[in-house]
Amino acid sequence: MGPESASARERREAAVRAAVRDGLIGARHPVIGLLDVRGVRTAAAALRAAFEEVTAPGTEVLHAFAVKAASLVPVLRLLAGEGLGCEVASPGELALARAAGVAPGRTVLDSPAKTDAELREALALGIAVNADSRQELARLDALVRSAPTASVLGVRVNPQLGAGSIGAMSTATETSKFGVAMRDEGARAWLVRAFAERPWLTRMHAHVGSQGCPPELMAEGVRAAYELAEEVNRAVGGQQVRTLDIGGGLPVNFASEEVTPTFREYARLLDVTVPALFDGRYGLVTEFGRSLLAKSGTVLARVEYTKSAGGRRIAVTHAGAQVAARTVFAPAAWPLRVAAFDALGRPKEGAPVPQDVAGPCCFAGDLVAADRPLPLLEPGDHVALLDTGAYYFSNHFAYNSLPRPGVYGYASAEGRTETFTDAPGESGEHPGGGPNVRFVPVRRPQSLGELVEESGGSLAADLSALR
Ligand SMILES: *Cc1c(COP(=O)(O)O)cnc(C)c1O
Repeated sequence: MGPESASARERREAAVRAAVRDGLIGARHPVIGLLDVRGVRTAAAALRAAFEEVTAPGTEVLHAFAVKAASLVPVLRLLAGEGLGCEVASPGELALARAAGVAPGRTVLDSPAKTDAELREALALGIAVNADSRQELARLDALVRSAPTASVLGVRVNPQLGAGSIGAMSTATETSKFGVAMRDEGARAWLVRAFAERPWLTRMHAHVGSQGCPPELMAEGVRAAYELAEEVNRAVGGQQVRTLDIGGGLPVNFASEEVTPTFREYARLLDVTVPALFDGRYGLVTEFGRSLLAKSGTVLARVEYTKSAGGRRIAVTHAGAQVAARTVFAPAAWPLRVAAFDALGRPKEGAPVPQDVAGPCCFAGDLVAADRPLPLLEPGDHVALLDTGAYYFSNHFAYNSLPRPGVYGYASAEGRTETFTDAPGESGEHPGGGPNVRFVPVRRPQSLGELVEESGGSLAADLSALR
């Protein structure tokens, strides 16, 4: 464990303790999301540095954060402050990026199902668009003819390289729904012609997959996109394709505190696999999501009851499918580390005992961990689902009308000048006792009133009036 990951764990443990002390989590709000602001900043800086190390001086690189990984406006703003843009894939995600103040020129629109209206809006705003299909390209033809645009326009290709270890996360299979399948018969020639006939098509895009795809496979996908761009540029006798969008997908280590693979390792792998990629002729776009946020997030939930059934010990907690849908529905593909904390939010000691960690949802499979050795949990304790900063608390599943939990960013309050009436505690201690951690809300907990309204509350009478 490196010193950075050790301190990430210390920061997390201090935040859990402080969240319990400050009442962010309690009987009224028995599950919350926590986000380590320093961890997010560190990951963003590592991404920038990794590409700065391998690219020729002056190479333009836009790191566009994949908004679906953490669709929270303050997170997008935080990342924008660290120099990142946004990759969006729906009108909702675009609205979030705009609300965060991300400039159109730093926003990229992907998605296999863009409507005419979405495309028109993107082109009017000057947002980059990667066409996902031949039919979408035909729609772009009409729009480009009808009005000038500042948008950078590209085509997403599917290098058809095969799957990683999670089928649902593998976008570059033979028959994937994404992009123009470039190895199908005649497809390569069609693509080269499609570019040659459209001088305004200047970007090549490939996103080979997400969690479960080995970096080597991703790098092969980037190589395929690069080679096609070279072929287009040779065919037209100039540098028509000026940028390569190499997608995201760097896998995350969900098994320990260690960050592996790192952005630096991936950038170096790209440099070795596609040596000319970074020679300065091409601008670059990246679209990382999970690898930027996962390690900085924690779902913290109270243990409500414990029981035993058929010899199996079960802790019934408030974190289940509503905050960890993938883990609950596909536990083999999406295992999470679970940490046990006591009623005061201190790491729980004690001999590990195999237990099921269950959620609050009313179906039997609502388990975030099965038969997991943990110090024996008791009512009032807390469990933390680790590495859940991406695609967990930000991707709520509204089962059982469970409200979206509050999400809080945390940072050490050390070095801040505050006047307390009590004598300040020892360094690193809160004057009220415990760690010195400051929280800001990232998303407020959904109220029951909001939940009722979202479920048609104000429309209650209309359906029965229809005969
Ligand atoms: C989901 C997605 C990403 C981000 O993937 P991560 O695995 O979160 O890095 C990037 N680009 C596209 C087109 C995507 O669909």
